Amino acid sequence: MARIVMKFGGTSMAGTERIRRVARIVQRQQAAGHEVAVVVSAMAGETDRLVNFCREANPAFDPAEYDVVVASGEQVTSGLLALTLQALGCKARSWLGWQLPVATSDAYARARIETIDSAALLASMAAGEIAVIPGFQGVSHEGRITTLGRGGSDTSAVAVAAAVQADRCDIYTDVDGVYTTDPRIVAKARKLARVTYEEMLELASVGAKVLQTRSVSLAMKEGVRVQVLSSFIDDDAPPADSLPGTLIVSDEEVEGSKVERQLITGIAHDKNEARIVLTRVPDKPGAVAHIFSPLAAAGINVDMIIQNVSKDRGETDVTFTVPRADLARSMALLEGQQEEIGFNRVLSDAHVAKISVVGVGMKSHAGVASTMFKALADRGINIQAISTSEIKVSVLIDEDETELAVRVLHTAYGLDAVDAAV
Ligand code: ASP
Ligand code: MG
Repeated sequence: MARIVMKFGGTSMAGTERIRRVARIVQRQQAAGHEVAVVVSAMAGETDRLVNFCREANPAFDPAEYDVVVASGEQVTSGLLALTLQALGCKARSWLGWQLPVATSDAYARARIETIDSAALLASMAAGEIAVIPGFQGVSHEGRITTLGRGGSDTSAVAVAAAVQADRCDIYTDVDGVYTTDPRIVAKARKLARVTYEEMLELASVGAKVLQTRSVSLAMKEGVRVQVLSSFIDDDAPPADSLPGTLIVSDEEVEGSKVERQLITGIAHDKNEARIVLTRVPDKPGAVAHIFSPLAAAGINVDMIIQNVSKDRGETDVTFTVPRADLARSMALLEGQQEEIGFNRVLSDAHVAKISVVGVGMKSHAGVASTMFKALADRGINIQAISTSEIKVSVLIDEDETELAVRVLHTAYGLDAVDAAV
């Protein structure tokens, strides 16, 4: 017998029929002898609809009241799932955020979970009852409803799994796992059987959005084993014991699995960045700090940075990327600081893409970056900036070459589907 937290996203909960399918998946899990708690999202599109109502009511809305409104989407689906489970003959009840409670910070609309009281949940599960918990919501120190920020129900699920010390947190979504790359770009992309927390964080933060990034960090911190899998499986499918999705686990668990490691786990692409170049910045101490301090103060996240020093002129060009959504603000800030920074011109290009190869296997292998550079060069793809971490190499290229680059790299690292297991 295992203790499993199951989480269903908005597309899985969108309407009576889909909720019935979810209820059957949950029922099957319980019938297999497991203790089950379920965390649900609002129906697809519902949170957007509620956010719009808030905007219409008051463009400068009070976040605490916004939370009262937007948390209601999950209240509805948790009650509906409990009702549907009861209709199937299961014992089930809902537990709203304030009832458990899920205690959060007072940062309305972007609250952080502090503690979850698991006593009621454990008792309910032990009594054979299915606990249904609305994701995304909690209660502040002041006793008011909070929400965790968009996509937050993944984080709720992982937090509940940590609180009840679940054997696994199964996150049911509309994709059937995490792939070596975007299957819409590479038909030969393979579903990964396992990926480490670190890899998943890198893949998510560079644009492979399956889970809210915060939920992965939390899973890593708490050691929660997470499985991503599809809720769109047919009703006669075997219980989820067979682990049909992708498991997100610790490095040690992957190491111990005896399956030979791939050097590279996946390739991500991200079109959400823009490039800025400052020309002829004085090459002296403090110059770079002058550029980045105002951006940091404005909460703008700078990612890739390169500085090309021209030895004879005592000047440098500084190239870096910022989120595309912050490009206009960044340009305005930099233009306003032209004298202080002392650059000649500021140029920008939003027509770029960041391509990243990710894999814990590269910690112990040389030559990963050079394989990447050579594969891209062979296809005439120009690299505009580079950044690396212990388990990732990223390059910035022209946006039009995104698909080509992803395909070329997928092949170069031997990731194209053959029959071998991962
Ligand atoms: N319903 C919330 C949202 O759409 C939370 C979630 O589904 O994760 O952001
Ligand atoms: Mg989601």
